[in-house]
Amino acid sequence: MRLAFLLYLVVALSAVATGLAVSGFRPDAAMAALVSAKGDNRFERIVLPKALPYDLPAVEGTRDSSLPLVVIDPGHGGFDLGAKGQGLQEKNVVLGLALALRDRLLADGGVRVALTRSDDRFLPLDERYEIARKLGASLFLSIHADSAGDEGSVEGASIYTLSNRASDAAARRFAARENASDHVNGLDLDGKSNAVSSILVALSQRRAQAQSNKFAKLILQEGKGVIDFHSQPLHSATLEVLRAPDVPSVLFESGFITNEADAERLNSPAGRNAVARVLARAVRIYFMDRKDAGSDSAAAPANAQ
Ligand SMILES: [Zn+2]
Repeated sequence: MRLAFLLYLVVALSAVATGLAVSGFRPDAAMAALVSAKGDNRFERIVLPKALPYDLPAVEGTRDSSLPLVVIDPGHGGFDLGAKGQGLQEKNVVLGLALALRDRLLADGGVRVALTRSDDRFLPLDERYEIARKLGASLFLSIHADSAGDEGSVEGASIYTLSNRASDAAARRFAARENASDHVNGLDLDGKSNAVSSILVALSQRRAQAQSNKFAKLILQEGKGVIDFHSQPLHSATLEVLRAPDVPSVLFESGFITNEADAERLNSPAGRNAVARVLARAVRIYFMDRKDAGSDSAAAPANAQ
């Protein structure tokens, strides 16, 4: 009876996995989950891995893998246009900004760079930060542009990090999902009980949170006088794309494309370069600071706020 059920499960999952393979799901990972669940004799606990893209984006810049990797994430893409205004679409504006930032970072050196998308394609939100995690990124920066509808006078950039509440919830969800077979912030969770794993994931998320806040403040600091910021530029919110528990993540709302001046700034080569220079400086200072503090060790959670 039990064997028959197992066989049924294998056949059913194979069929599902094969079907999903077309859309980028990895059947080998699904089967690995099944095998490990078999070993545990706990069918009810089978958690299928999240869908991941077949091809991770190329890492650009030096081949020195000891240098930090920045993953830039231009928001939206494909059928998801994002905000609209002044004849512009957010997906195109933010891709232009992301490419300008990539070029600036590569020209300055000292970091490696990857883009979640470098053309006009759609990516689900969780795939975006999973790309950063898969590549072992040290920093994740999602770039967006805002819309204020008919309120054409609303302007200025804002910087978002994940709220503490959303961060705690994300850590719990992640721990539940990944169970005891993943690495978070260099901490090997394999073989630990679920309870211990949850604590480690929460610590890792706290640490990433503190680093995210630091980077957000650096963008503000470096951008003052160069970029027009919104009157309340720093925010924390429940944003799916910032949920990685082990990669400091910030979302930069570059401005309102419904505002004439912002739209001109974000869609001109001079404006794009100004934004890229500010963000690249913030990235450089962020990593210099971390190097000085030696904060790459996994013992940093105690410093989390
Ligand atoms: Zn957006």
